[in-house]
Amino acid sequence: MRILIVEDEPKIAEYVQQGLTESGYIVDHAATGVDGLHLSQQQAYDLIILDVNLPELDGWGVLEHIRRNSSTRVMMLTARGRLADKIKGLDLGADDYLLKPFEFPELLARVRTLLRRSEQVLTPEVLKVADLELDPGRHRAFRGAQRIDLTTKEFALLHLLMRRSGEVMSRTQIISLVWDMNFECDTNVVEVSIRRLRAKIDEPFDNRLIHTLRGVGYVLEERQ
Ligand code: CA
Repeated sequence: MRILIVEDEPKIAEYVQQGLTESGYIVDHAATGVDGLHLSQQQAYDLIILDVNLPELDGWGVLEHIRRNSSTRVMMLTARGRLADKIKGLDLGADDYLLKPFEFPELLARVRTLLRRSEQVLTPEVLKVADLELDPGRHRAFRGAQRIDLTTKEFALLHLLMRRSGEVMSRTQIISLVWDMNFECDTNVVEVSIRRLRAKIDEPFDNRLIHTLRGVGYVLEERQ
């Protein structure tokens, strides 16, 4: 789950970014409306947390631009508690509205609610390769009748490999899609995680589904 926060106050941005990262989300930050809009066009976000008072292009302007071609969930942040602002935000297509100052747990609860809502609308398609099944809506994995417990990262990794089943994924692609890092030197994070994932979903079973292409990457597919 990838979240963008557009907020010019460094302390608030850092507080929110850190909290959400610790809660398992991938979080990008933009300090101006223009940068935020730019990022939102470069990258698909599950949620955008958008401050109203921003330099140059304000939150309303950003929201208007976003709504021209995207239905990404948007939560507005504002210090102004006027009802008129709230109505304006909802009219422009904001999905939620949070007043500053707020406590992080309140923000997190709202984020979860919004993401659950969009998940129900957009995804919960069960993925299946051979007898391996992944249910993103319920966060469950099965091999045949056997339920497999996965960590959040293992789940994200398996989800990626199953979504792109049959397609070779390089270590750097995997890193950027699952870990949000672009450092080549960290690719052994992928190796370690693939090893752990294999131990859970492949090694106890007869037909292996995750295959290594030496020097290239990994592919998940059924091979006879
Ligand atoms: Ca601000």
